[in-house]
Amino acid sequence: MIQPAVELRGLRKSYGATEAVCGIDLRVERGEVFALLGPNGAGKTTTVEILEGHRSRSAGEVSVLGHDPGRNERAMKQRLGIVLQQTGVDEYLTVREVVQMVAGYYPRPRDVDEVLGLTGLGDQADRRVKKLSGGQKRRVDLAVALAGDPELLFLDEPTTGFDPSARRQAWETIRGLAALGKTVFLTTHFMDEAQALADRLAIIADGTIVATGSADELIGAGSTSTRIRFRLPETAELPDTFAARRDISVWEIETDEPTHALHELTEWALGAETELLDLEVTRRSLEDVYLQLTAEGGEQ
Ligand code: ATP
Repeated sequence: MIQPAVELRGLRKSYGATEAVCGIDLRVERGEVFALLGPNGAGKTTTVEILEGHRSRSAGEVSVLGHDPGRNERAMKQRLGIVLQQTGVDEYLTVREVVQMVAGYYPRPRDVDEVLGLTGLGDQADRRVKKLSGGQKRRVDLAVALAGDPELLFLDEPTTGFDPSARRQAWETIRGLAALGKTVFLTTHFMDEAQALADRLAIIADGTIVATGSADELIGAGSTSTRIRFRLPETAELPDTFAARRDISVWEIETDEPTHALHELTEWALGAETELLDLEVTRRSLEDVYLQLTAEGGEQ
C-alpha cells in the first residue's frame, strides 16, 4: 500500500486549560491538494505547525512522508516546503538571490529560473524584495518554499491579502504544483479557494473535524440541495403552503426537488398575475455547508 503524505490519528494539543485540537484523524494521499477550513481559533495553525514540526503535540500519532515530525529530522524537512502566514526573508536581497540562497540549503533544489517562472516572479527577479508589493512578497514566500523541490507543501492561508487577480494567479501556481505531482496541504478561510483547488477538504471547528470529503460530497451531504430566491411586488403575498422563509423583502425556498418547486411557484405567480422579481435558483454552496457545520460546532 502506498504510504499517505500525511496521517494523523487522535491528535491532541492543549495549551494549559485550552484544548485547541481535540483528537483529530486525517489522511492526505500523495499528489492530493487538501484544504483545512475553519473559523478563527478552530485549530488550523496548531495542526499545521505540528505537521511541520514547529509545535509539539499533547497526544496522538502523526506521520508526515513517513516521518514523525516531533523528532525534528532533517531528512523530513528537506522534503517539505512551508509557507507560513508571516515569513522573514532578507528584504535587501533581490528575488533571485533569496531563491538561490534557499536552494543552496537543499540536496536537490529545483532550477531557480523555473521556480521564478512557476511563481510568476520572472519579471521581478532582479528587484529587491523590499520594493515589491505585498502580493509579490507573498509569491516570494511561495518561491522560497519551492526552492528545495519539496514533495509536500504546507500553505497557511496562501492568498490572504491578495487582490482578486493575484489570487487567481496563486491558484494557477498551486494547480501547477499539483500537476507536477506535489502534495499540497493548505489552510484557508475562503470557500471559493477550497472549492477551486482542493481534491478533498476537512472542516475543523473547536478543535474537532466536523466534515471531510470532496467539495461535491460535502455539498451533496445535506438534505436540501437547491435554493430559490425572489422578491414579490408589495401587493402580493405568498401562500403559507410554500414553506418559504422571508428575510425583509427576499423570499427563500430550500428544496430537494427544484423542478417541482419552481413549477408550483411559477404556476402560482401566473395565476396571481404577479412577477417573481430577481428570481434566482442556486445550488447549496460549500459556504452554506461550512456556515451550518461551524455554527453547530460553536453551539455545542
Ligand atoms: P486563525 O484562523 O485565527 O489563524 P486557527 O484555526 O489557526 O485560527 P489556532 O491558531 O490553531 O487556530 O488556535 C486554536 C486555539 O488555540 C485558539 O483558542 C488559540 O487561542 C489557542 N492557541 C493557539 N496558540 C496558542 C499558544 N501558543 N498559547 C496558548 N493558546 C494558543
